[in-house]
Amino acid sequence: MSTRILALDDKLVLPATLGTTLNRLLPIGFALIGIGLSVALGRLDVQRQESELVANAGARLSGVRAALEAQLRSAFGETEGIAQLISADGQISPEHFHDMARQAIASVPHIRHISVAPGDVIDDVYPIKGNQSIIGVDYRHLPDQYPMLQRARDHYSPVLAGPVQLYQGGRGLIYRRPVFLKGHKGVKLYWGNVSIVADIDRLLSAAGLDLDPGFELALRGADGQGSAGAMIWGNPKLFEEHAVTVNVDVPGGLWQLAASPLGGWPSMSLFASPLFLFALTCTGLFSVFVAQLNRSNHLINLRNRELKQSQAQLERLAHYDVITGLPNRVLFNQRLQEAINAEQRLAVLVLDIDGFKQVNDSLGHPMGDLLLQQATARFVQVIDDQDGLCRLGGDEFAFLLVGAEHACIDRVQGLLQTLQLPFDLNGNAALVTGSIGLAWHPEHGQSSDRLLRHADTAMYAAKESGRNAWRLYHPDMTERLQERLCLERNLRRALQNNEFELWYQPKIDLFSGRIEGAEALLRWRDPDYGLVSPAQFIPLAERTGLIIPLGEKVLELACQQIAAWRAADCLPGPLAINVAALQIERSDYVASLSRSLKRYDLPPTLLEVEITESLLMESQQQACAALAQLQAMGVATAVDDFGTGYSSLAYLKSLPIDHLKIDRAFIKDLPADDDAVAITRAIIDLGHALGFHITAEGIETQAQYDFLRNAGCDQGQGFLMARPMPAQALQTWLADRQMRQHLVID
Ligand code: C2E
Ligand code: MG
Ligand code: MG
Repeated sequence: MSTRILALDDKLVLPATLGTTLNRLLPIGFALIGIGLSVALGRLDVQRQESELVANAGARLSGVRAALEAQLRSAFGETEGIAQLISADGQISPEHFHDMARQAIASVPHIRHISVAPGDVIDDVYPIKGNQSIIGVDYRHLPDQYPMLQRARDHYSPVLAGPVQLYQGGRGLIYRRPVFLKGHKGVKLYWGNVSIVADIDRLLSAAGLDLDPGFELALRGADGQGSAGAMIWGNPKLFEEHAVTVNVDVPGGLWQLAASPLGGWPSMSLFASPLFLFALTCTGLFSVFVAQLNRSNHLINLRNRELKQSQAQLERLAHYDVITGLPNRVLFNQRLQEAINAEQRLAVLVLDIDGFKQVNDSLGHPMGDLLLQQATARFVQVIDDQDGLCRLGGDEFAFLLVGAEHACIDRVQGLLQTLQLPFDLNGNAALVTGSIGLAWHPEHGQSSDRLLRHADTAMYAAKESGRNAWRLYHPDMTERLQERLCLERNLRRALQNNEFELWYQPKIDLFSGRIEGAEALLRWRDPDYGLVSPAQFIPLAERTGLIIPLGEKVLELACQQIAAWRAADCLPGPLAINVAALQIERSDYVASLSRSLKRYDLPPTLLEVEITESLLMESQQQACAALAQLQAMGVATAVDDFGTGYSSLAYLKSLPIDHLKIDRAFIKDLPADDDAVAITRAIIDLGHALGFHITAEGIETQAQYDFLRNAGCDQGQGFLMARPMPAQALQTWLADRQMRQHLVID
């Protein structure tokens, strides 16, 4: 019977009396259904509000976790140099130890002291003042500290102990780094330990734990024991009931962070949901209305449909991304966790679209959104029905692939290929690629959080490998991240200690053989490693923003050198300096360049600026404005490494550029390779027709030189004529060359 009542379209076959009763019952039935639907809608709305709060808490926690991990890395990475020195030499002199420890404490203020303990007996500490009492302490007689040391030694890796109450007062974290010497046949011999004690409260505050407007945070896991460890900071109550938690990786273990909104989690009632109240009011009004017009089955059907639609819409808002219609991070995490609980073997991918920022910047955000939608449609074609896909935000997507390993990898490759096809964005063609990181469950992690994090690390490795690639997570990647941090620290020190110098490579007029200027190339003279090439540190300097102060240094050194050459009346011509896109984007580059010129009283025509083609393409707007200002001042502008960045010559013509430097990749195959010949000729001829002055980079052979001169190339640089060299060596080279020319003329 009940199914028949709901099947309103069947009215024609009902007996007449039953029809009348039904008509009377209709408004009541409608009110009941309406109330039911309002409750369902209200619940969904409340759920959505709750999951938003949880997602906010989760996002806040991820931020704090990243800050904490970074603080820990930077505080405790400092022992590495000391430990490695001992490993290599079997000892460290007190002077050397004090010197390294002093530098470490100067760069990380929360370190309180650093000690070395051969055979686990402390024999030196820095600073000594206030810490004399610990010299001679034998860890084996400290039952509260020795077990952690044993753990570090047994696992051959550092551990983080504490927080402990320090003899010297206050609470500290102790990082224990076991040190091993290499014995016969690679056997590791335990030497002792190096320990860093850091002020935990300053460290946590540097990570921003106490600065939170909306959330209360708490941290537990003393001695790296995760949820089993004692409280470290904050209110233990946060870990009860509704806590949103994340794990923080610390050396040799885990900490656990929890967040809850200030004032606790609101207990949300249905009446707090505007949607519920709205739906209920509508139900009341419509029930009355329907009572008047209860003959109209059509109306009822219509209203039912509308309510169902809004219910579905609410469901979408809570769990789906508005732009692509894909599940959001919350729903994806649920799915992933379910798959993990079911002990399925699966691949977790993080995909980032390379070049998306360019599309957004050049064509506008609506076209960026369109690209995301089209890319989503392509991804759906590539993956299987059982796979999952979500948009993590921006141009980042996550995938969950199930099935055999080789089949998953086929799909990963399919994803890269599908992105390479051009996108048609309302008539604008856009080319992008993708970088993918992959982590396997269970090998690379047992929680959705860890799998996603490792896939993310692998994605960065794919980006670094040159993009349009995929990489499988490997623990070395985390290690490489640490190496990068170490390089970053060294770069900062190098800037402070003025370890940078410029070398100079002459530019030659290919037709007359005259010197027409030089290019300044940066070198880092590291006290330990000697000369380091820019290819090794410029990319990191760009990623970390250190390129800004570094670029200032280059400007300063270049202007200083031009002034010195002028004073000695031996200027080889204008000096070109290389500029990174970020310098132009982020700093007041033009102003600082003109300040440097003024300081040394130099005319702008003595300086040239080179920017690589690919970087120019990535930040067209800012770069163009700055290049136009430079040109207007009289500073010549050049596009470096031309031919590698996919820009067209005709397009470059619209930009404020004077010179093109053909990339070495084309020169090196001259004159034997037909393609290289055709491309080089085309660049020279078309470039000249458009008014550019053309330079060839990397000329290494006489045959290349002759070909380029005959093809009409204006200028050249390369090992054939001269390698980059220090200023003094350039002077000697110039004098030699002049003498030889005189000899030829005489
Ligand atoms: P670049 O501006 O294209 O510089 C040319 C590079 O090619 C230099 O490498 C130079 O030593 C090398 N080279 C020149 N002639 C030849 C040759 O005949 N054969 C070969 N094999 N190589 C040749 P370098 O000095 O290692 O610099 C690498 C890149 O680092 C530069 O490429 C430039 O993009 C960047 N760079 C150098 N100095 C600076 C700087 O002060 N600031 C910025 N932002 N980037 C810089
Ligand atoms: Mg250059
Ligand atoms: Mg170049």
